[in-house]
Amino acid sequence: MREIWIKDAERLGDGSIGGAMDTPTAPGRVVWHTTESGTGNASFTAVGKYLSTISAEPHFLYDPTTDRLGQYGPINQSARALKNDGLTRTNRTGSTCIQIEVLGKAAAPFTKTWKPGPNFRALMRAIRSWDVPDTWPGGALADSYGDSDVSRSRSVWATKGGHYGHSQVPGNDHWDPGAIDKNAIFKAAPAESTPTPPTPSKPVPTKKTVDLSNVIAAAKVDPDLKQGGTTHPGDVKVVEAALKAEGLLTSSLASDGSFGYSTIAAYKAWQKRCGYTGSAADGIPGKTSMEKLGAKHGFKVTA
Ligand SMILES: [Zn+2]
Repeated sequence: MREIWIKDAERLGDGSIGGAMDTPTAPGRVVWHTTESGTGNASFTAVGKYLSTISAEPHFLYDPTTDRLGQYGPINQSARALKNDGLTRTNRTGSTCIQIEVLGKAAAPFTKTWKPGPNFRALMRAIRSWDVPDTWPGGALADSYGDSDVSRSRSVWATKGGHYGHSQVPGNDHWDPGAIDKNAIFKAAPAESTPTPPTPSKPVPTKKTVDLSNVIAAAKVDPDLKQGGTTHPGDVKVVEAALKAEGLLTSSLASDGSFGYSTIAAYKAWQKRCGYTGSAADGIPGKTSMEKLGAKHGFKVTA
């Protein structure tokens, strides 16, 4: 269900700031601004009133240092913090064009110091209820006034839903909200995942492939780790199970995934069983003996 007023937000102004959208079939979007003011409650009150006085209200005023959130107008109508792009009324582009003024300055990106909390998550919940995707279709955000890396593409703005900085809106020349961390916006408010129904339980198939190089590496490293230390437990466990089935590995520590001294001794016994003698039966697995073990106990060996 699309949220129009966020119940967690305090109301600012008289609740009437804009009107109907011009392109309601275009995807929904968000525009981030910064107020170029200080933060804290005194700024929240002063800037909150000022934006009404100059008729440049966003939908939301947000203090990233206190998680305080105010709402001026309904999300299903336009706000008025953007300039028009010629005849294109940028405030009225999309099914929604949710504008957020964040207390702070473009020169000090707010995601570096903010403390997003439940109100920020409520804001993102409302944004996502309009199917605004967690993306930034406009590319790089401006990191200075007049930053030439910013495209302000008209076609992107007209057709792509997602999150924009004021710096990315065509026909506008402001560089707010500065170079904020775009992903931090989404990370601070993880989307509620739809729980997946549990899959009917099947027996977990045992691993049927052993990487010989992993096992050799484990046989060289694991004995010197502290008791039970592992490097390639997945591969080693398959080998240990086979050695156990051969009756060669009887220690209570068998099958711990660590190719320690007891596993080396067991493997040496397997090599002897394969006909190797002397230094050819040193407990460090070789290709032929491993393939024999695999053939007998149902695993494949890869190099
Ligand atoms: Zn702005």
